[in-house]
Amino acid sequence: MDVSHILDQLNPAQREAVTAPPGPMLVLAGAGSGKTRVLVHRMAWLIQVEGISPFSLLAVTFTNKAASEMRHRVEALQNMPVSGMWVGTFHGLAHRLLRAHWKEANLPQAFQVLDSDDQLRMVKRVLRNLELDETRWIPKHITGFINARKDEGLRPQHINSGGDPVQQQLLRIYTAYEVACQRAGVVDFAELLLRSLELLRDNEELRRHYRSRFRHVLVDEFQDTNTIQYAWVRLLAADKSGDGAHLFIVGDDDQAIYGWRGARVENIHSFKKDFPSCLMIKLEQNYRSTATILNAANALISRNDDRLGKNLWTQGKQGEPIKLYAAYNEQDEARYVIDSIKRWIELGNARSDAAILYRSNAQSRLFEEQLMFDGLPYRVYGGLRFFERAEIKDALAYLRLLANRSDDASFERVINQPTRGNGNKTLEQLRELARNMNLPLWQAAQTLLQQPGLTARAGNALRGFLQLVEGMHEAVKNLPLHEQTEHVIQHSGLLDLYRQEKGEKAEARVENLQELVNAARGYDFHNSDVVETDMLTAFLAHAALEAGEGQADAGEDCVQLMTLHSAKGLEFPLVFICGVEEGLFPSERARAEGGRMQEERRLCYVGITRARQQLVLTYAERRRLYGKDYYPLPSQFLGEIPAEYLQDVRFGNSKPSSPAGSKPQQQNGRGLMIGQRVQHQKFGEGMVTNYEGQGSHARVEVNFRNSGSKWLVLAYANLEVKA
Ligand code: ATP
Ligand code: MG
Repeated sequence: MDVSHILDQLNPAQREAVTAPPGPMLVLAGAGSGKTRVLVHRMAWLIQVEGISPFSLLAVTFTNKAASEMRHRVEALQNMPVSGMWVGTFHGLAHRLLRAHWKEANLPQAFQVLDSDDQLRMVKRVLRNLELDETRWIPKHITGFINARKDEGLRPQHINSGGDPVQQQLLRIYTAYEVACQRAGVVDFAELLLRSLELLRDNEELRRHYRSRFRHVLVDEFQDTNTIQYAWVRLLAADKSGDGAHLFIVGDDDQAIYGWRGARVENIHSFKKDFPSCLMIKLEQNYRSTATILNAANALISRNDDRLGKNLWTQGKQGEPIKLYAAYNEQDEARYVIDSIKRWIELGNARSDAAILYRSNAQSRLFEEQLMFDGLPYRVYGGLRFFERAEIKDALAYLRLLANRSDDASFERVINQPTRGNGNKTLEQLRELARNMNLPLWQAAQTLLQQPGLTARAGNALRGFLQLVEGMHEAVKNLPLHEQTEHVIQHSGLLDLYRQEKGEKAEARVENLQELVNAARGYDFHNSDVVETDMLTAFLAHAALEAGEGQADAGEDCVQLMTLHSAKGLEFPLVFICGVEEGLFPSERARAEGGRMQEERRLCYVGITRARQQLVLTYAERRRLYGKDYYPLPSQFLGEIPAEYLQDVRFGNSKPSSPAGSKPQQQNGRGLMIGQRVQHQKFGEGMVTNYEGQGSHARVEVNFRNSGSKWLVLAYANLEVKA
């Protein structure tokens, strides 16, 4: 067989990985060195050369976007569609497993997936039922607690409170939450993973089935797997008996950025220990970025310790310097970025080749406004999530209630949305009855209607709601999905509710609801990962799982906006990293908590290495964020990139200059001494009272006569020394 098309575009190390004999394999390599490419080619090799059926492969990626890219790449290599292949995120695959085996997993067939917002509501409800004070038992902390335990594979009964009353209370909440979810037939994200792990672990027949079915399991971005994901992979892995899958693991310890969410980069070490016979391959040639971009990234990441260490190089061009733009404020920043993108498009480039990356979701809004103003289509990944918008969630809640009457979260969400006379009092009564009789709210409502206790008016309102839902269900039963959706947004009263409201926001809500009908129409049931379920349920699960994975028309050429976290694994010719400021990036949290800086630096490394041709870094001298004004310092990461790679473009300068250009001079020039008097452009006159760090790290504390004491990064402060 001619296999040259699989191997042509691979270097020797990549080829070795792709063609290796079956057995555990670890490809450990830096950004842009072709890890994902190797993984995809490995799949093609296994299918075409080793004769493995595409259905005996399981490949895990980190985002749905990456999963669909991988599916396309395999399809292109294969020259045929391969729907039904097990390619997806851990969550997507776990979901698929549970759908296929809902009974064994002890779930109702129409179980629904709770996204993080739903989960929070659920926890709040549980707290109310337990009569606990939300100001003391903060719902966000509780979901954090529960998810972290689940990510470690721990159910309440596995956790020993050690007699600690706080722990005891948390466990009580966790237990009540589990009961409530089970009763409502809903699972949160962490539950998807844990439940499917338990399913494979405890159900011998299923385990045997999947262990013999999957001959190869391939995992991308392995450095960001958590305990349970690794356990999942191990359950499927070949053991001495010869059963089970060969593992093909790909990762980069320098790109581990989800430690805060329970990911364990140590899994790389565990893998080496657990599979001592594993073949390890390093890839060191970077094919993505210009030498300038790559060198900048290498210099930055070299400041982290505890690295497995690798040396990335490129044969590519030196490329343009990295542009550094100091904006006056966040509006100026957005304007500069969008103007640059416009110029870039005018040169004949595609919009989708430009990406705007930021540390915090809240930063996206201004860029969006500017893009809208300029009429440039764009897409936000992971930001303003379409499926998380209030009106969409309302509509989905109705649909979910149609699919599953026991879904308490949805019940509560829409019982009085739009307003229909079901007040708090009714809801309180329902909750109490549900609690006492251990019933879902829906059944509690039916029961309550048969008892005295409700006023005639309240009874009518409640009956009206139940009849509305039943009536809609009856009406849409045999309709295609998008007509179901259309019927529901009309008859529920949601559409009218927003039509009657004035203003742009309401208009946008109406548009969003209409867009939901489009989303339902465009939803490709056959290409979904989900088997053995009805379309509505599949679509709802898709909505929960894909929330945040884009909202513009798929396939439209548009500017890409996303957080640095969601950019992992992707690449773009032109990349902007915005808000590169102390307190934003690195985040305030990371600065405050020891040990977090390294992960933050890795995030910066991930961001820089997304760029292929041109990288632009921006920061604002003043920023309004979360409703407050800040005067942030430029990020310390800017000082960690050697000045020779940076070019200040604030005043249209084409030559390297301040602040980057002034660095060498400041570093080598006269040292500042404590007690020295200095002048600062903005803060005026002051005296040096302290200093720390060296070279581009150096910071000084200056006590300014009018603005008090401040720490400044020497390289950027432009201090004038007074005689
Ligand atoms: P990341 O760490 O960011 O996930 P990666 O290691 O997965 O990166 P890929 O995305 O697979 O890297 O590859 C980076 C770029 O380099 C892609 O555009 C890919 O097509 C290209 N590339 C990889 N290997 C080669 C090669 N041997 N010849 C030409 N181009 C290559
Ligand atoms: Mg990759």
